[in-house]
Amino acid sequence: MVTVACKNQSNQNSKQNYTIMLHVARKKMFCNVLGPGTRSVIWFHGCTRQCSGCIAETMNKIGEFESLTPQQLANWIKHNISIENSIEGVTLSGGEPFQQPLNELATFLMLLKQNTNLSVLCYTGYRYEELKEQKSAIPVLQYIDVLIDGEYRQNEDFGHRWRGSVNQQFHFLTKRYKNQEHEWNLAVERQIEIELDINGKLQISGVPSKNFINKLTTELQHHDVDVDFS
Ligand code: SF4
Repeated sequence: MVTVACKNQSNQNSKQNYTIMLHVARKKMFCNVLGPGTRSVIWFHGCTRQCSGCIAETMNKIGEFESLTPQQLANWIKHNISIENSIEGVTLSGGEPFQQPLNELATFLMLLKQNTNLSVLCYTGYRYEELKEQKSAIPVLQYIDVLIDGEYRQNEDFGHRWRGSVNQQFHFLTKRYKNQEHEWNLAVERQIEIELDINGKLQISGVPSKNFINKLTTELQHHDVDVDFS
């Protein structure tokens, strides 16, 4: 589990209080390629699973991240809604969301569900069956509408929408999208969004086609352009 604690300034009686922070590698206010509708996407930092062909490998190992409290993250979502009130939901990706401090992740999702009607999609390299057995994961799972589970497997990457490989499954944990289960399972379609940030870094969102990232990275290195993807 990735957990870094920051000492709280309001320390009293020589006792040290610590605030556990969520580590966020990247956030995108509006994204249309990681789940239904327009979504705010949070890529958490860090994953120890090392799936072969993982496109977030560099980000997991050496990428920068910001440390945020659940409230700060909830405030960011609130801000996004104030700009674009047609946001349908939030997608959690990574990195590995379930290697974040789970109490804090659950608190963020609780704030989200208490104050909005947004849906929650979450990617994880763990199997749903494994997570259900983990007591600490249950408070997080209760706020997730759809869990997309399992490790990425290059040899099972057949171009399915919103999934890296076909072994990854949609688990409809609430009724929110349950009536779309058949369509989601069959959809074969890959879409990505590409943006150039103010530092000249190319940012890619979505599930790219197999080998796309390698080809693009090789090509762009000839032109001194950094690529950031998750
Ligand atoms: S679980 Fe996801 S982020 Fe972690 S190594 Fe596998 S593909 Fe990469």
